[in-house]
Amino acid sequence: MPRTVLVTGATGYIAKHIVAGLLNRGHSVVGSARSVERDAEMRSALEPALDEKSALERFQTKALDLTSDVGWADAMSGVDAVIHTASPFPLASPKDENEVIRPAVDGVRRMMTAASNAGIRRIVLTSSSGAITVKDAPGSGAAFDEDDWTDLNHPAATPYFKSKTLAERAAWDFATDHPEMALTVINPCFVVGPPLDASFGTSIRVIERLLKGKDPMLPRFGFPTVDVRDVAEAHIRALDTPEAEGERILVGDRFLWFLDLAQAIEAALPDRRIVTREAPNFVIRTLALFDREVRTIVPILGRREDVTNSKARRILGLEFRNALAAAGETARWLDKNGIA
Ligand code: NDP
Repeated sequence: MPRTVLVTGATGYIAKHIVAGLLNRGHSVVGSARSVERDAEMRSALEPALDEKSALERFQTKALDLTSDVGWADAMSGVDAVIHTASPFPLASPKDENEVIRPAVDGVRRMMTAASNAGIRRIVLTSSSGAITVKDAPGSGAAFDEDDWTDLNHPAATPYFKSKTLAERAAWDFATDHPEMALTVINPCFVVGPPLDASFGTSIRVIERLLKGKDPMLPRFGFPTVDVRDVAEAHIRALDTPEAEGERILVGDRFLWFLDLAQAIEAALPDRRIVTREAPNFVIRTLALFDREVRTIVPILGRREDVTNSKARRILGLEFRNALAAAGETARWLDKNGIA
C-alpha cells in the first residue's frame, strides 16, 4: 500500500538510494535536509534512478537538524512511517567525542518523540555494524550476530562507533517505554557501491582515497562490507515486514581487507596505478602519531570481523550482492565522473 515516509538525512549517500527505491515503489517521500536549499540537488541526484520522472512529484524536502527541535512536528504531519538515517559520520574522529555522540543520540530521541507525538508507530532506524562488532571476537570460527553489542570501553570504540551504539540504545529504550511503536534497526556493515551523485559520505571517500593512491602502502585492516543497494532494499523491505518489528538486522556481505578492496579497484580499472602493497603494522602506528585519520584505524589493525547475515536473509528475504564487485563499480563510477 503506498505510504508517506519521512526519510531523515535525505542528502546522504545511503538515504538517496532509499528515497529512490521508495519513490519507485509508489510511496511518497518527505526528505529531510539541514537546509531546504538542497532540494534541487537531491532532485537531480534522484531523477536518473527513477523509473518515471513524474515520481519526483511525490518528493518534498523539509528542513530538520538533529540538534534542534525546530520543524520536527511539522515534518511528521501526514507521515505514516519514518526511516531515520541522519547521523554524523566523520572521516576523522573529532577531539571531543560529544561532537558526534550528542547529535546522534539527541537526534534519535527527537525523531522518536516527534513520531510518537504524531501517532506514527512504524520506525526504521539506520544503526551500524559498529554497534555490534566492536568487542572481543566471539569464539573461534564464530561470526558476530545481532545478539552482540559493542563494548563502549573497547580500544577500537571510536567516537563514531560509540555514537551509533548509544543512539541505537536510545531508540530501543524509547521503544520499550512506548510499546505502541514498532521499531526495526538496520545495522549495515561498511557500505560501498555507486553513489547517486558526488555528494557521498565517508565510506566512498575511502574508495576515493585508494583510487587516488594517496597512501604509499595499505594498512592491514578491513571491515565486513555491503552493497549500498542491498542496504537501501533492507530499509524498504523492513517497512512492510511485520516480522522485522522489534528486530535489529545486520546487513553485510563479507569481510574485506583494505588489500581486497584495492585489488578489486585495480581489476576494475586496469589502466590506473593502484597501491596494493600492505604496510607493516608498526609503520601505521608511527604514521598515526601525525595523522588523525590514520589514528582512527590503529586499534583495528590486523583485526578480522566476520558477521552473519542469516537474519536479513530469513526475515527480509535479501540475497546479497558481491561487495567486492560493488567496490569495483564504485571505483569505475568515481573514475567516469572525474572525481578520482
Ligand atoms: P552521509 O554522510 O552521506 O549521510 C549522513 C546524513 O546525516 C547526511 O544527510 C547528513 O546531512 C546527515 N546529518 C549529519 N549530521 C546531521 C545533523 N546534525 N542534522 C541533520 N542531519 C545531519 O553518510 P551515509 O549515507 O554513509 O550514512 C547514512 C547513515 O548510515 C548514517 O546513520 C551512518 O551512520 C549509517 N551507516 C553508514 C555506513 C557506511 O559505511 N556508509 C555503515 C553503517 C552505517 P548533511 O548532508 O547536511 O551533512
